[in-house]
Amino acid sequence: MDYEVVIGLEVHAELATKSKIFCGCKNEFGGEPNTHCCPVCSGHPGVLPVLNRQAVEYAVKAGLALNCQIQRFSKFDRKNYFYPDLPKAYQISQFDLPFCKDGFLDVRAGEKTSRVRINRIHLEEDAGKLVHSEWGSGTLVDYNRCGVPLIEIVTEPDMRSPEEALAFLEQLKSILKYSGVSDCKMEQGSLRCDVNLSLRPFGQAEFGVRSEMKNVNSFSAAFRAMNYEIKRQAKLLDEGKPVEQETRRWDDQKGMSFVMRTKEDAHDYRYFPEPDLVPVVLEQDYIESLRASLPELPAARQARYLEEYGLSEYDAGQLVAEKEVSDFFDACAALCPDKKELCNWVLGEVLRKRKEAGEESPVPLRPEGLAALLALYREGRISQKTARDVFETMWTTGEDPAAIVEREGLAQNNDAGELGGLVRELVDQNPQAVKDFLGGNTKAMAFFVGQVMKATKGKANHKLVNELLQKELESRR
Ligand code: ADP
Ligand code: MG
Ligand code: ZN
Repeated sequence: MDYEVVIGLEVHAELATKSKIFCGCKNEFGGEPNTHCCPVCSGHPGVLPVLNRQAVEYAVKAGLALNCQIQRFSKFDRKNYFYPDLPKAYQISQFDLPFCKDGFLDVRAGEKTSRVRINRIHLEEDAGKLVHSEWGSGTLVDYNRCGVPLIEIVTEPDMRSPEEALAFLEQLKSILKYSGVSDCKMEQGSLRCDVNLSLRPFGQAEFGVRSEMKNVNSFSAAFRAMNYEIKRQAKLLDEGKPVEQETRRWDDQKGMSFVMRTKEDAHDYRYFPEPDLVPVVLEQDYIESLRASLPELPAARQARYLEEYGLSEYDAGQLVAEKEVSDFFDACAALCPDKKELCNWVLGEVLRKRKEAGEESPVPLRPEGLAALLALYREGRISQKTARDVFETMWTTGEDPAAIVEREGLAQNNDAGELGGLVRELVDQNPQAVKDFLGGNTKAMAFFVGQVMKATKGKANHKLVNELLQKELESRR
């Protein structure tokens, strides 16, 4: 039977604050175990938390960027559970009054745009990390991550395919990075997601029973986990067996998920208001100042590229995916008359070099440099091949393109007299190829072009060479 897929996501993002949420310890990935800790974040009795203002600001900014209602009054709650990575035996989180509610993100997946509603965004503290020791049977605990500020973004079960969920995650990541709220490095665990998924027969109004998958460490793992879960649940339903409401652990190496806990052993967290922190009241002016401080977000930029620059929706979408690339494009666009040509260079050469240098590495080019290179090409002073070579050099040395062309003698040869002489010589020397050409063999033309290019070290004006050859060869008919 064919089932409709229903997906809801819970996404955790670590906030890019300098210090932790309730103490002055460094919020920094890595470091020797237990070196970014103090009595507050390692859960000593009698200490008091002090709320990090920047963390609240980032949580609110995330909410604004995701079209949420910002709650004027919110508070913190204790979520009680025992686990060795949680030294206080409770996590300070938000239960009934989170900072943000009722948002949405319009997600483009393939040809379709659909609205994914955001139920809530709350602020909480991260837990530590268990380290399974490689020198014995024991497990160690590293509290460096304890107290790192986190937001949890909870969606409504609005996604209907793994593709749509993946597009949501990609666009969410892009927005969080644009807003400066989180660096979203999945490999460092600063963006993590739990996948809730259920199936129902098409046309059925009620949702099916869902499972929740944890330990999904990359977007591609999320995609694999969802597809696995769809197959697993469909098989159960086809066999007339019930899907259990349970939490499962995804094992990406094995490509399978395993039961972690069932509904019966679900936690009762005994939430209660955190007595050591006062509720937070946000003034409307403060909220508005944060709204005004948000940069232009990817969707708005994409629309602007369509309207102002006449780019295709696809190209514009590619350009805005990462702020660094989009900022670079914008800076160049101010200097380049042909936006489409610029777009091709950025999506082609710039993204290629950036990928070589490692995902998310900075763009070392100056916008003026790329603009000057495109001008040299446009004015016919260098060939396309030369433009590519000069680009390579600029990427590593940061030099001015005109200086590279000058130094390496790369200027395009547009001299019709000189090239005409060369063409005549070559035609004289290769009577067989001339015969082939006149007999209709198109490869003969390519042969002659290749010879001219070789003789001029690739600097001859391609178009001019073609014209001269055509004329010369026809004259031998
Ligand atoms: P809990 O508090 O038990 O985690 P929630 O109702 O808050 O449950 O839902 C958690 C996540 O599960 C949300 O992202 C929500 O969209 C998703 N979800 C809820 N019901 C379903 C369902 N039937 N199928 C898929 N996802 C669901
Ligand atoms: Mg949950
Ligand atoms: Zn601390």
